[in-house]
Amino acid sequence: HDSLTGLANRSLLHQELAAAIGAAERDGHLVALLDIDLDRFKIVNDGFGHPFGDVVLQAVARRLRALVCLDDTVVRMGGDEFVILTPRVSRTDDIEEMAQRLVDSFAEPFMVEGRRVHLTGSIGITFYPRDGDTGTELIDNADMAMYHAKSAGRSAFRVFAPEMAEEAQRRTEMEIDLRGAAQAGQLWLAFQPKVDLDRDTITGCEALLRWDHPKHGPISPVDFIPIAEDSGLILPIGEWALETACRQGRAWLDAGLPPVSIAVNISAAQLFQRDPVAWVAGTLERTGFPADLLELELTESQLAQDVETAIDVFRQLRGLGIRLAIDDFGTGYSSLEYLRRFDVTSLKIDRSFVDGMLAEPGDAAIVRAAIALAHSFGLSAIAEGVETEAHRRCLRELRCDQIQGYLVSRPVPADEFATLLLR
Ligand code: C2E
Ligand code: CA
Ligand code: CA
Ligand code: CA
Repeated sequence: HDSLTGLANRSLLHQELAAAIGAAERDGHLVALLDIDLDRFKIVNDGFGHPFGDVVLQAVARRLRALVCLDDTVVRMGGDEFVILTPRVSRTDDIEEMAQRLVDSFAEPFMVEGRRVHLTGSIGITFYPRDGDTGTELIDNADMAMYHAKSAGRSAFRVFAPEMAEEAQRRTEMEIDLRGAAQAGQLWLAFQPKVDLDRDTITGCEALLRWDHPKHGPISPVDFIPIAEDSGLILPIGEWALETACRQGRAWLDAGLPPVSIAVNISAAQLFQRDPVAWVAGTLERTGFPADLLELELTESQLAQDVETAIDVFRQLRGLGIRLAIDDFGTGYSSLEYLRRFDVTSLKIDRSFVDGMLAEPGDAAIVRAAIALAHSFGLSAIAEGVETEAHRRCLRELRCDQIQGYLVSRPVPADEFATLLLR
């Protein structure tokens, strides 16, 4: 059993699945497999150094257990992913109703240790024998269906369909196209201003990758970055992005524009490659872009992949004089311990909290706490996804240092950004 949640673990699942498939073959009924993944795993640290996330996962496990039948097997697959095995099913409708009940119950906020937790879950479903011959196939296809539920807007369930395998095929094709995209000049960087709230001026920008596909038109980084990460292409593409951003920054300085910092997003694979510090240092040297104007943004979930190495690399990168930001802050397992040990310069509050801050008291509390946390560690706080004047006013009241979002400007090509700087 899983030591954290007390649920069954993967190896138990495979045993139970094999037994269920055997029985179904004999008696002619169906077996159902539900793959569940939490969508908005908003973790607020309990303030005492151990992740509040563990307690939330335990509460989720208890909830799942309470919502299923006695002879169902509930499994924690690791992280915030769970599987439910229903060994004896006669109507697929029954399972779809159960999935809907699970989705609805997730969407209800619940209290854990006196805190209101709001998260949603996405579910993918497969049935034996229709959607796979073996346990592994059923699990893989349910996972595929779960991703479809997630990309359909989260908090939903999807039953596996063979078209979903076709989509996997499209991903493979996209990977092949992406391989040649940089050399073919299809990639470019857009720049989005960061505004200092006290001075009301642009003090920096974030460089965001853009891909103009010759056949399919613009493809969002939300769609191609995960493919680049899965295929290892993120290394050459990420190199191209950093190099291009630094060259652009140097060109702006040479053109006599006011100096602004440039933030570049870095994926885990780039941070944990052989010598990330030599790569960054080499790029700065080649391009002549000042180190103190470069900022790298990394998400908590990327750092979590290897905390000790990340801490070490961060220290060396800071030694170069560059700035480091924790991106999408509030969406992962951040603990105070983390913040103390990571040598970072700013926290970037995830746009989902900014988005909900005026309507959801929970989101407002997270934004307020994140800003206070940043300041107590001597870090600067930046809010992303700032779309309205009301957001700006509220963030100024909360003493947030910088804002970034459509209110100021969408990400724009380099020449347009230069115009914004001179305005
Ligand atoms: P991110 O780092 O969280 O970047 C912020 C995203 O929010 C950008 O999406 C930006 O266009 C969008 N955004 C900015 N202001 C607003 C706003 O007011 N409202 C809303 N709704 N959205 C806003 P974009 O450009 O689609 O990029 C998506 C993600 O792709 C980025 O999220 C980042 O994780 C990744 N990405 C982009 N460029 C790179 C890159 O060079 N390397 C890596 N590793 N990842 C990148
Ligand atoms: Ca998740
Ligand atoms: Ca970012
Ligand atoms: Ca972000």
